[in-house]
Amino acid sequence: MAKRALITGITGQDGSYLAEHLLGLGYQVWGVLRHDSDPAASRIAHLVGDLSFTRAEFDDSASLLSAVERARPDEIYNLAGTSYVPTTWRHAELTTEVNGMGVLRMLEAIRVVCGLDESTAGGGIRFYQASSSEMFGKVTETPQHETTIFHPRSPYGVAKTYGHHITRNYRESFGMYAVSGIMFNHESPRRGSEFVTRKITLAAANIKLGHQDKLHLGNLDAQRDWGYAGDYVKAMHLMLQQPTPTDYVIGTGTLHSVRETARIAFETVGLDWRDHVVVDPDLIRPAEVETLCANPAKAHAELGWKPSLTFEELIQTMAEADLRRLSTG
Ligand code: GDP
Repeated sequence: MAKRALITGITGQDGSYLAEHLLGLGYQVWGVLRHDSDPAASRIAHLVGDLSFTRAEFDDSASLLSAVERARPDEIYNLAGTSYVPTTWRHAELTTEVNGMGVLRMLEAIRVVCGLDESTAGGGIRFYQASSSEMFGKVTETPQHETTIFHPRSPYGVAKTYGHHITRNYRESFGMYAVSGIMFNHESPRRGSEFVTRKITLAAANIKLGHQDKLHLGNLDAQRDWGYAGDYVKAMHLMLQQPTPTDYVIGTGTLHSVRETARIAFETVGLDWRDHVVVDPDLIRPAEVETLCANPAKAHAELGWKPSLTFEELIQTMAEADLRRLSTG
C-alpha cells in the first residue's frame, strides 16, 4: 500500500518541492491548509489534482488533531510557519504561537492519535520538524554542526529553538520517531521575493526587460550558506527513513556574499550588476546573525545526502527562470 504523508506549509517553497518529491516516490500526499488558503492560487497549483487536503489552524489544537485523524499519515512534515526573519519582530507573539507552540500542538496530536503515554513507546507516525540555522544566531563556533550551542537572535530563531527542543523531548519521552532538520538558507525560483537571492534574480530579469532601472540592496558583504530547496526536501524525506531517529544539519558548507549573488544573477541575463545596484543604508540590518555556515558531515555520512547544484548554478537557474516567466507575461 502507498505510504501516506501529511505536509503542513504545503503551499510554501519547501512544501511544494516536498509534495512533488513524495508524489514521485509513490506517496499519497495530504496537505494541511489554513482556512483562507487557496491551493489553486499557490505554488502547488500544478499539483492540486494529485493531492488531498485538510484544513487546520496552528493555534487550534483540535483542528490539528482532526487533520492527523483524517489523513492517518505514516509521516508528517511540519513546514508551517512564518519564514521571513526581519518581520518576526513585528509579530513576535504570533511567530511564537505558530513556529513554537504549533510544533507542540502537532506532537500532541500525534501522541493522542497513536495513544502514547509515558508507559508506551513509539507510535506509527514519523515526524519531521523544520528547524533552522537561525537557532545558532550569535555563533559560538564555525562551521555549525548538530551539537553547536544555540543562541538565537530573533523571535523567529527563539521560536524555532523551542520547536527543536520539544521535538527532541517527545522523541526521548515517548520513544517517538521525531526528528529535526537544521536547515541553512535554501533558495529556488519559488523563493519569496522578500529574500535577497530572489529579490536579486527578479530585479535582474526586470531590469533586462526594461521594467526597472535600479536595485536597492543592504549589506553587500553579508554572507550565507545558500543551497537549493529541491535538494533540501530530499534530505527531509531521507531523515524519516533511518533506523534510528536523530537530528541533522543540512547545508552546503560553503559561503557566498550578496555581492556575488548580484554578479552572477546580472551576468546570467547579460548585464553588469555594478551599473544597477544601489546600496540603501535603510536596508542594512542593525542586529545581524553572524556568519552561518553548515558542517553537513553527519548528513553526508549517514544519509548519503549531497547538494546537486553549485551556488553559481542555483543563482543562474533562478535568474533564467525569472527572465523566462517575466518575458512570457
Ligand atoms: P535570512 O538569512 O533569512 O535573513 O535571508 P535573507 O535572504 O532575507 O537575507 C540574507 C542576507 O542578505 C542578510 O544578511 C541581509 O542583511 C542581506 N541583504 C542585503 N541586502 C538585502 C536586501 O535588500 N534584502 C534582504 N532580504 N536581505 C539583504
